[in-house]
Amino acid sequence: MPATAIFQFDKPTNSVEALRRSISNRLVYQVGKDLHSATQRDWLFAVFHAVRDRIMDGWRESLTQAEDQDAKRVYYLSLEFLTGRALTNAMLATDIYEPVKQACALLGADFDALIDLEPDAGLGNGGLGRLAACFLDSMATLGLPGMGYGIRYEFGMFAQRIEHGQQVEEPDYWLVNGYPWEFMRPELSYTIRYGGRLVPQNGQSLWLDTEDVIATAYDSGVPGHQMRSVVTMRLWSARASGGVNLDAFNRGDYIQAVEAKNQSENVSRVLYPDDRTEHGHELRLRQEYFFVSASLQDILRRHLKNHSGFEQLADKVAIHLNDTHPALAVPELMRLLMDEHQLDWEAAWGLCTRIFSYTNHTLMEEALETWPVELLGRVLPRHMGLIFDINARFLAEVHTRFPDDHALLRRISLIEERGVRRVRMAHLSVLSSHKVNGVSALHSQLMVDTIFSDFVRMYPERFCNKTNGITPRRWLSLANPSLSTLIDSRIGPDWRQDLDQLAQLRDLADEPEFQNAFRLAKQQNKRRLTDLMARCPGVIVDPHSLFDVQVKRMHEYKRQLLNVLHVITRYHRILAQPHANWVPRTVIFAGKAASAYYMAKLVIRLINDVARVINNDPLIGSLLRVVFIPNYRVSLAEIIIPAANLSEQISTAGTEASGTGNMKFALNGALTIGTWDGANIEIAEKVGPDNIFVFGNRAEKVAELRGYGYLPRSYYEGNFDLKFAIDRLAQGGFSPEEPGRYRDVVNVLLESDYYQLLADYGDYCACQDKVDDLYRRPGAWTRSAILNVAGMGPFSSDRTIREYATDIWGVAPLR
Ligand SMILES: *Cc1c(COP(=O)(O)O)cnc(C)c1O
Repeated sequence: MPATAIFQFDKPTNSVEALRRSISNRLVYQVGKDLHSATQRDWLFAVFHAVRDRIMDGWRESLTQAEDQDAKRVYYLSLEFLTGRALTNAMLATDIYEPVKQACALLGADFDALIDLEPDAGLGNGGLGRLAACFLDSMATLGLPGMGYGIRYEFGMFAQRIEHGQQVEEPDYWLVNGYPWEFMRPELSYTIRYGGRLVPQNGQSLWLDTEDVIATAYDSGVPGHQMRSVVTMRLWSARASGGVNLDAFNRGDYIQAVEAKNQSENVSRVLYPDDRTEHGHELRLRQEYFFVSASLQDILRRHLKNHSGFEQLADKVAIHLNDTHPALAVPELMRLLMDEHQLDWEAAWGLCTRIFSYTNHTLMEEALETWPVELLGRVLPRHMGLIFDINARFLAEVHTRFPDDHALLRRISLIEERGVRRVRMAHLSVLSSHKVNGVSALHSQLMVDTIFSDFVRMYPERFCNKTNGITPRRWLSLANPSLSTLIDSRIGPDWRQDLDQLAQLRDLADEPEFQNAFRLAKQQNKRRLTDLMARCPGVIVDPHSLFDVQVKRMHEYKRQLLNVLHVITRYHRILAQPHANWVPRTVIFAGKAASAYYMAKLVIRLINDVARVINNDPLIGSLLRVVFIPNYRVSLAEIIIPAANLSEQISTAGTEASGTGNMKFALNGALTIGTWDGANIEIAEKVGPDNIFVFGNRAEKVAELRGYGYLPRSYYEGNFDLKFAIDRLAQGGFSPEEPGRYRDVVNVLLESDYYQLLADYGDYCACQDKVDDLYRRPGAWTRSAILNVAGMGPFSSDRTIREYATDIWGVAPLR
């Protein structure tokens, strides 16, 4: 091998001049264009490569450090990473935003336009996937050795268009032009096996005649703040194996062989767009196993590179399961250790229960994953067998400890026996993990009180809370330059890595000069959003009105419909008293509905119908505007959230596990109107009860009403405004061309109202009046908004990840 002295390369530097050269070189030699032929996309790619070059040294160094220090690493397994755009984030992390901008100006490239050309990496549905992305950012910023593992979906979250008021889904072919941020690593390819048959052989199992797919790694670097370290996000892409099966299938027919190849590559084709509902599809099961098996093979390979066996595996490896989607990692690790590396059961299981940890994200029945035994047994026969074995040993232990409690065995089993037999993935995850956490104080409490109460009797020490957080780099520094600059001018720039420093803003909350500057920053952001909304035809918005914003996935438990009921009521009240002292409001919605979710789609249509009626009513003028902004995604959130005055976080108490949208808004100086749910509660504690609008029944009351018979009609009959709003809806007041359009909405509200909108409606409307009262007093409003920003220190994902690292993973920062 040649001496390292021979292998020399030019480390790029960060001056404007150096960047101008880099971008020019990349345009000519990588993109294959020049100054005259370059399209906007060519410039984007040239800049992308020039910026990527500048994280490479830090990236290699992070990997070398971890290896040299033989550090324990954490592997974050997640079926979703909703990372959004990479370029601006990387320029901020490396501190080259301004120099790149100047270099582009010198080259005559339109910096703002090309930045806006970058497609979002939308490899997630919503909060869960975005959390995973914030976590990688924080791991990199804290210098923690670890990686994210997931799937490189060819199609991410669908793009949403609104046509005649209704959602239309379009495929998100985000890779169509190539993705210059990633590295393909063809040498990191693993065989993933499905189906086949088992042949027992001296205590082990031979797994034969499988259909095979190859998983190939694609790596992206996630740079931490000021390049403290760079974390690898490794996503797996499926490729057909050239092996036996293809031949068996195609019988010499080339075209059919290629078709079969296509089939097996489907496994990484598309992200399932259903947020918090069960899928049950075989392809989804195959996806889950696909990325879990590839990741575990990769983890064991890395371990064996520097260790001679598995004695130390649990001292060097922590594997985190982001929800139950990666729970097949447990039987897969058992299989690899036992069948491929000849460990015995006790040794293998002992390692599993020291290595795995699991985050629960929801208590809702319909969102808890279960797989039919028949399906799992057919697709992954070895894993089904291992799950049965794990269950048998577990139930024996339960029986020994609680010999008289037979109902307990049925409840706690990994297998649901009633009806079609199914594997309970949450039970498997809890049993195999040394720590199980919820994502807010309330959620973690409800988790041990309800779905896992039986497991608490067995393993009380396992359960803990880790309240979610968000990265302040993306959600303040990048998304809100106006406010960031203002904060920098008063407390310096270090809040980006130490968000508790925002507490210093408390002293400025009453200072008129700071208040004015704070309002000005908000106004700039509202202008930015107003310009964006003006691109939607027919929407003219007053940037001085109160921006009242609810943006998140469309779901009944999130209660966008409650918001709409208030809008309708407000509309009626303005019509009744047009000359009262109304605070002009713009009510802004955005969010995608799962394609098969009828109610959620109907609410989108309702919002658009209500918007059409109100926005075109000359009696209303600019007192009330309603806007549905299509295609909610990370890059859009970065523009909408900084512009909000009011943040709507109005889920039925006990249903929103944490929420992270709530944190993004408060960090950007919006006041929250919210229920006593998820992290809203902790936000209220940190910003102070006077600086948040809380309304509605609490979780105990919600449960009590559900238990003793909830009668939505009694609220309807008892509240004039509510009855009026629902009646108008039922009569087609917002859909005159089709009066029955919202019959199902009305029926759900009056007949079942599972999420208890009507119970909270009265208090919600009263609370909205208090919002208006405060907004009429700009000094008091701004003071509260500043105190919200000042109180957000604890909601940095750096705090969250520090807690995971110490309490769960046992991982320390690189030295
Ligand atoms: C933060 C975020 C979410 C989660 O929002 P919630 O209000 O917590 O549900 C969903 N989608 C995107 C694009 C986000 O950035």
